[in-house]
Amino acid sequence: MSPSPYPGTDLTSANTLGLPCTAEHFAAPASLAELQAALAEARARDWPLTLLGGGSNLILPERLPGLVIRPAMATWWLEEGENDRVRVHVEAGVVWHELVMALARRGLWGTENLALIPGHCGAAPIQNIGAYGVELCEVLEALQVVDLADGREAWMTPQECAFGYRDSIFKGRLAGRVVITRLVLCLSRTARPRLAYGDLAGRVGKAPTPLAVAEAVCAIRRDKLPDPAVLGNAGSFFKNPVVEAGLAERLLLEHPGMPHFPQLDGRVKLAAGWLIDRCGLKGLREGHFGVHERQALVLVHFGGGSAAELLGFAARVASRVQERFGVTLEREPRLAGER
Ligand SMILES: Cc1cc2nc3c(=O)[nH]c(=O)nc-3n(C[C@H](O)[C@H](O)[C@H](O)COP(=O)(O)OP(=O)(O)OC[C@H]3O[C@@H](n4cnc5c(N)ncnc54)[C@H](O)[C@@H]3O)c2cc1C
Repeated sequence: MSPSPYPGTDLTSANTLGLPCTAEHFAAPASLAELQAALAEARARDWPLTLLGGGSNLILPERLPGLVIRPAMATWWLEEGENDRVRVHVEAGVVWHELVMALARRGLWGTENLALIPGHCGAAPIQNIGAYGVELCEVLEALQVVDLADGREAWMTPQECAFGYRDSIFKGRLAGRVVITRLVLCLSRTARPRLAYGDLAGRVGKAPTPLAVAEAVCAIRRDKLPDPAVLGNAGSFFKNPVVEAGLAERLLLEHPGMPHFPQLDGRVKLAAGWLIDRCGLKGLREGHFGVHERQALVLVHFGGGSAAELLGFAARVASRVQERFGVTLEREPRLAGER
């Protein structure tokens, strides 16, 4: 494997927003050794590096200088643990949803609520993917990284990853410094259904299996979220904002029905989609982009637009929320090339 030469690789179909993008150089290493060789070449040529998984949480510019690496190591295996525990070793290039369904079919509990989240396993820890009351950090036992600066491998514990809501050390101190190459998950053979969120409990029977839960999650998500294969999007475009209790109380006086979730630190998480909806923006279309008509948290690309246009549209949505509620919305997908 050697990075492809200029004039570049088209990544338009490699990002779920469907933004047009050409990478100057591209590599899809199928082993750790190939990854280390690609990193060494980038260092020798002084190329900036961009890591790409499924492209479902990234905003790509029209031209991406340097080398784009998309890890293609894609095997996984099980290791029986103590009692009812099973360890899952999974490489970065495995498609997350396919892994979740395969584990659910084997009757293993732990990841079923995270079904149908797009993307590759290597990117799952970056924002500590979460859905339906479960976050990746609850099942992650360890992960392996390779240092971009010297190609060296290391293992990290969940504590070292500093996981939070849609957050980890890989968005902070280690952003752009390591590539995640392997995860070790710890799942259980004992039934541990987590059905408190949404109408999940109503959709599965009295003795649910992991597969029944995963299928119910898929059905709910298909009802609510646009399929990126049909309409470009990056899932939730904004994080749910966590605000000071005083601001939440003032807003609740005015809007008693506002969804709000008290946090352990005394602050309150609000629903960004509700705030956008209440600004009357659901279904809004401006140029090539819009706010999805069923889920206001999702910005959609109708085709023909660019990253710059999308960022401008998102800024206008966020400023309407700021003006109306005094709440600052933070973007969830990362802008490629942003350090
Ligand atoms: C329809 C839809 C629904 C979604 N629903 C959810 C949801 O319910 N919950 C949720 O949490 N997220 C959700 N997302 C967001 C997204 O699916 C997740 O964040 C996913 O983990 C991104 O994976 P990816 O492989 O596509 O990453 P990419 O978009 O390719 O990359 C994301 C970031 O990770 C970096 N990266 C990629 N691979 C590696 C690696 N191996 N090592 C180090 N850095 C790497 C990239 O440089 C980039 O900064 C949704 C997205 C869509 C489009």
